[in-house]
Amino acid sequence: MVLILKLGGDVIEQAHSSLISDLKRAASKERVVIVHGGGDEVTQIAEKLGKSQTFVVSSEGIRSRYTDAETIEIYTMVMCGKTNKKVVSSLQKGGVSAIGLSGVDGAIIRAVRKKKLIVADDRGRKRIVEGGYTGQIKSINKDLLLTLIQKGYVPVIAPVALGDEFEFLNVDADRAAAHIAGALGAKRLILLTDVAGVYLEGKLVSKMTVHEAKSVMKKVGFGMEKKLLACVEALTMGVNRAIISSGMVQNPVTRATKEERCTVVSNE
Ligand code: ADP
Ligand code: MG
Repeated sequence: MVLILKLGGDVIEQAHSSLISDLKRAASKERVVIVHGGGDEVTQIAEKLGKSQTFVVSSEGIRSRYTDAETIEIYTMVMCGKTNKKVVSSLQKGGVSAIGLSGVDGAIIRAVRKKKLIVADDRGRKRIVEGGYTGQIKSINKDLLLTLIQKGYVPVIAPVALGDEFEFLNVDADRAAAHIAGALGAKRLILLTDVAGVYLEGKLVSKMTVHEAKSVMKKVGFGMEKKLLACVEALTMGVNRAIISSGMVQNPVTRATKEERCTVVSNE
């Protein structure tokens, strides 16, 4: 069995101290592939370099970084460099055979550059902007990941994809994790974040069908809308359960696996 685990930026920065040992336990029972985020750190470093960051909202209400030519360079440096290596070194310190990679390495994630983006302003007015360097995921190098996990390695993948012209492309980490889960035929996708799951009217929603997730997507705020989209994509690609859960609690992987206090998207 294979488990795909996505670690959000806050989970990397302020994880519960038990995360690594818990992950090690999980990796001793089944094959694990990790995908990480870390957008806040990209923003901080970009701004230190004097490159201010802007975000756009698509007509479907999905928020993303506007990734121009300078931004993709900084994004790649931070994600594939500092953030990826920080995750790998924490795992190695905890005795996990982690290997740091990105979607570029071994062409693990191939994507097509979005030429144009339809973005909406605060009033919902739509306009078309240059796509920049964001990508739509097209394929996953499943063989390479299977080779690594069969040998007992835990791949740690940064969300940078390889484009048609071999350019670097920014892809969302939740959605990258969903595609990897789909490609590897994983039964479960776990998105560890800084909240227990999806809240609606102040209450944690413990279960949702794909259909419900699609309709709730428009009601939740930024951050969560993309996780729901990723869950829907994962289920569409054959994953049985997509779990959004907190990484800030004791033994977060075990808890998510047991589906305690989290949101599960499934068709059961
Ligand atoms: P990550 O870095 O783990 O990907 P994000 O910040 O992108 O996390 O997304 C998680 C965030 O989504 C939460 O911290 C919360 O602020 C936000 N959010 C917006 N709407 C909701 C909602 N309805 N329920 C839970 N979280 C929500
Ligand atoms: Mg996010």
